[in-house]
Amino acid sequence: MEKKKIAILGSTGSIGTQALEVVAAHSDLYEAYVLTANRQADLLIRQAREFRPAAVVIADESLYEYVREALADEPIQVYAGEDALCQVVQNDEVDVVLTALVGFAGLKPTIAAIRSGKVIALANKETLVVAGELVTRLAMENRVAVLPVDSEHSAIFQCMEPGNEVEEIILTASGGPFRKMTMEELRTVTPAQALKHPNWDMGAKITIDSATMMNKGFEVIEAKWLFGVDAGRIRVVVHPQSVIHSAVQFRDGAVKAQLGVPDMKVPIQLALSYPRRLTSTFERLDWYAMKDLTFERPDMERFRCLSLAFEALRRGGNAACVVNAANEVVNLAFRQEKCSFLQMPEVIEQTLDRVAFVGKPTLEDYLASDLEARRIAREMIGK
Ligand code: NDP
Repeated sequence: MEKKKIAILGSTGSIGTQALEVVAAHSDLYEAYVLTANRQADLLIRQAREFRPAAVVIADESLYEYVREALADEPIQVYAGEDALCQVVQNDEVDVVLTALVGFAGLKPTIAAIRSGKVIALANKETLVVAGELVTRLAMENRVAVLPVDSEHSAIFQCMEPGNEVEEIILTASGGPFRKMTMEELRTVTPAQALKHPNWDMGAKITIDSATMMNKGFEVIEAKWLFGVDAGRIRVVVHPQSVIHSAVQFRDGAVKAQLGVPDMKVPIQLALSYPRRLTSTFERLDWYAMKDLTFERPDMERFRCLSLAFEALRRGGNAACVVNAANEVVNLAFRQEKCSFLQMPEVIEQTLDRVAFVGKPTLEDYLASDLEARRIAREMIGK
C-alpha cells in the first residue's frame, strides 16, 4: 500500500510535534511530505533532517536564507512566507493536510487545501471560528472531508450515527486552572498561572484561551460548523477530570460518550487513519484508579469570553471573525503582561460592537474585518 503523504502545517508546535510522533510510529503508513514553522527555524531544520520531507516552509521570510543554507545538502525544497503555505498544500502528491498552525494564519492555507481537494485533518479551530460558513460550504462543494483533531470534536464525531439526528451535543470543558476562583481573585491572575493547565499540555495561545474559556466558546462555534447543529443544542458541561471528551444525546434520550486519557495523539492518529483505527501504545484508562467523574454548569459571568462566543454565533456574519481577531490581540497582550485577565473580555466585547457588521461575508470581508478588529483592539489596550 502506498504511504499517505501528509502536509503538517505547524509541525514545530504542540500538535505538530505529536503528529510527527504518530507518523514515526507508523512510518509504514505515513510520510511527512511537507513541514512548516513560523519562527522556530532550528527545530524545523532538525525535523527536516529526521523526516526528510519533500518541502519545508518557514513562514517568517527573514529566516529563509538560514533554513535554506542549513538544508542545502538535502533534497528538500525550502520556501518562505504566507503564500508558500497556500502553495505547498496544493502539491499533487499531498493526500492529507493537518492544519496544526495557530490562529487566523490557518484560514488561507486551509481554504487553498480544500480548493485543491485535500483531506483536512483540522486542529486549527480558528479557521472555523473565523469563516465557518465559507469553509464548510467550500468543503461541501469540493467534496472534501474535514476530520476533527480537537479532542472534543473527535469524540463527538466518533459518537455520531449516520441517519440518526442529534438532539444535543454535550461539549465537555475542564474549566481550566481558574475554575474555582472568585471574580476578585481573577482580577490579579498572572500569565504564569494561566499557562499551567491542569490536564493538557498545549501551545501558549490555546492554554490562555482555556483559562478564559474562550477556547470552549470557539469549540461551540467549531461544533456548529462541523456537525451542523445550532448553538441552542450545544450544551457546555464543565468536567474537570477530562475523561469524557464529549458526548452526544439522541432523540430517544440515549447518550453516547467517548472516553480516554487526555492525550492528543489519540485524535491526531484517528484523523490520519480514519475510518480505520490503528494499534497504539498510548496510555489506557485505569478504571479502578479513576475516582469521581464530576459535572458542573459553566459560569458565564466569571468566564465572559464563553458568553461572547455564544453572542457572536447569535449575531452571525463576521461577528465570530471579529471576536477571534480581538481575542488574538488580547491573548498575546495578556501573555506580555500588557493587559489584565479581566480586561480581555472587555476589549473583545467593545471590539465586537465597534466593527461594522457584515451579514454575508466573502473571504475579502473576513480579511478586512480581521484587520479592523485587530486595529481597534490594539488601540484599546494602548499598543
Ligand atoms: P503551538 O503554538 O504549539 O504551535 C503553533 C504552530 O503554528 C507552530 O508550528 C508555529 O510555528 C506555527 N505558527 C504560529 N504562527 C504562525 C503563523 N503566523 N504562520 C504560520 N505558522 C505559524 O500551537 P498548538 O499546537 O497548541 O495549537 C495549534 C492549533 O491546534 C491551534 O489552532 C489550537 O487551537 C489547536 N488545538 C491544539 C490542541 C493542543 O493540544 N495543543 C488541542 C486542540 C486544538 P513556530 O513553532 O515556528 O512558532
